[in-house]
Amino acid sequence: MASTMTEQLRAAVRDVPDFPKKGIVFKDITPILKDGALFRASIDLFLERFRGKKIDKVVGIDARGFLFGSAVAYELGIGFVPLRKKGRLPYKTESAKYSLEYGEAEMELHIDAITRGEQIVLIDDLLATGGTSASAATLIKKVGGELLEAIFLIELEFLHGREKLAPTPVISFLKY
Ligand code: AMP
Repeated sequence: MASTMTEQLRAAVRDVPDFPKKGIVFKDITPILKDGALFRASIDLFLERFRGKKIDKVVGIDARGFLFGSAVAYELGIGFVPLRKKGRLPYKTESAKYSLEYGEAEMELHIDAITRGEQIVLIDDLLATGGTSASAATLIKKVGGELLEAIFLIELEFLHGREKLAPTPVISFLKY
């Protein structure tokens, strides 16, 4: 893809200071979502990455990972699996706790969402400290999935989240 499109995507990401709390600069991707050309271009970045690879399922992280992950899965004609915050999935789940800046959180995955040996890619909008996606990686492996890559539209490199995901390869398109 032309670098100009990546630059347009980067320019569209809106910084919202002190959201959801003081000191956090929130990277708002809704300006990308509301623009048809930019939304398509963001999905195309993911799709280019997957061309010619054998992938069985996309796992998307609650909630913005659903927006990108489901569009990618649709285009590839493969299944989509939601990884959700605790208490949202109706059937039996595996769960993994992880620490946030303050306190703890927990993610869940349906126990039958992934078949043993399936090749999985993990998608979210943004990699920050890596706590969320590292717990996602743990859950995917726990149910027998083979995690090929974790892919993010945005990476906050100064938080070194990719180190938490090692040895899973991490790909991101817009780095800050
Ligand atoms: P982390 O577990 O620290 O890598 O946080 C990643 C999750 O929190 C992702 O699902 C992001 O959507 C969200 N997130 C964390 N920091 C930000 C931020 N500065 N702007 C937007 N979303 C964020």
